[in-house]
Amino acid sequence: MSNLDRAPALRLGGGLTDVAPRPVYEVFAGKEVLLGESTMVRRLLPNLGRRLVGAWCFVDHYGPDDIASAPGMQVPPHPHIGLQTVSWLLDGEVHHRDSLGSDQLIRPGELGLMTAGHAITHAEQSPVPHPALLHGVQLWVALPSDALTTPAAWQHSAALPVIDARGGTVTVIMGDVDGARSPGHAHSPLVGADVAVQGALRLPLEPGFEHAVLVMSGSVTIDDEAPLGPGAMAYLGCGRPDLRLTSDLGARMLLLGGAPFEEHIVMWWNFVGRSNDDIVAARAEWMDGDRFGDVDGFDGYRLPAPDLPPGRLKPGGATR
Ligand code: MN
Repeated sequence: MSNLDRAPALRLGGGLTDVAPRPVYEVFAGKEVLLGESTMVRRLLPNLGRRLVGAWCFVDHYGPDDIASAPGMQVPPHPHIGLQTVSWLLDGEVHHRDSLGSDQLIRPGELGLMTAGHAITHAEQSPVPHPALLHGVQLWVALPSDALTTPAAWQHSAALPVIDARGGTVTVIMGDVDGARSPGHAHSPLVGADVAVQGALRLPLEPGFEHAVLVMSGSVTIDDEAPLGPGAMAYLGCGRPDLRLTSDLGARMLLLGGAPFEEHIVMWWNFVGRSNDDIVAARAEWMDGDRFGDVDGFDGYRLPAPDLPPGRLKPGGATR
């Protein structure tokens, strides 16, 4: 998915200033953002209080939406640099196509992992016909400096490790949980998992990671905190060996975590770079250049880049 905001802000992130070295519990409500003409998403990252959780730098949660008589997701070709996109569905289907020639239908329980590296272009659409319900998350992972020039790649994994435990199941989307490892290729230490709780589940964590939990459906109690409902995210800090998750009626949540991302990054629109100049160059080359390829067979227009905001921001400066 794309950031379709027509006036996106230039955002700085990374570094250790905002990382809680010990367990905390901070709840964020998603901010509603209209994607295109019809799709409303809840943006959990970045938000006013937090930019990254490990290398995870962008989290949109959408649905469940009834799109039986609607076009559903319609995101025309747009560029990315410096990040990976992780597509994860609970309901529905998304048709992914990119400038590598990838042409893939993503279904619930399947990982769609796109590595932008230096440059990639992709489009995402609800197929025709499509299931009535659409429900999922779109996630971005910031790439470390040594992966910024890595070749663009597309990876689709239909069979992910699933841990069946008393009190629930854990599907490992990225990284590993309790020794069960996702085939998804990550460039820094991180974890992403879909956790279905029915009753009480103990979820082991890597204490060196910072973590957050996004509730996608139902209601869950984390340790002894107040119940967390759908669409809300709790930032948990570092230093937790595990979580106690309780949901009598059942809940689905997304666990995100990773080693604190020490590098300072600059994010704007669909780009993650290290400097203002990285962003300016990528924008210019998307609008008038040959750095980004095309999505063959896409019937429609490429998404034009918004105007750059005034002013300059530099990573690692006084402005966080
Ligand atoms: Mn995208």
